Amino acid sequence: AGGEPQDDCLFCKIVAGHIPATLVRESDTTVAFRDINPQAPTHILVIPKVHHPDAASLAAAEPAIAADVLREAGEVAAEEKLESYRIVFNTGSGAGQTVFHAHAHLLGGRGMQWPPG
Ligand code: 5GP
Ligand code: ZN
Repeated sequence: AGGEPQDDCLFCKIVAGHIPATLVRESDTTVAFRDINPQAPTHILVIPKVHHPDAASLAAAEPAIAADVLREAGEVAAEEKLESYRIVFNTGSGAGQTVFHAHAHLLGGRGMQWPPG
């Protein structure tokens, strides 16, 4: 149940290759590509190929794939030679989520503020 591609989902279209993206890494279950509106020198999105609306829904339905997303984010950080970085899962419009297909933001290459605001 769940996980099927959604016709109206931007990231499902990127997974399917119907919308171009600058891919940086791919696995059987995930795709990583550069954010179109980068908020840091390195800003890469790591997404599951399956559609779930947010990270918690993904983790509840397919925990192994949620782990894949985290591992791939770490692999991308290593490839980008980031010694410090932040992984963010915006969840809900009030937190800034605009694409309702689970995705990790990998941000690095500059200093980060805490709390994030
Ligand atoms: P959210 O705001 O949902 O956490 O993150 C969605 C992210 O997707 C934003 O950072 C936005 O810049 C990025 N984004 C939106 N449309 C596209 C697109 O067509 N291509 C790429 N590569 N990134 C996109
Ligand atoms: Zn989707």
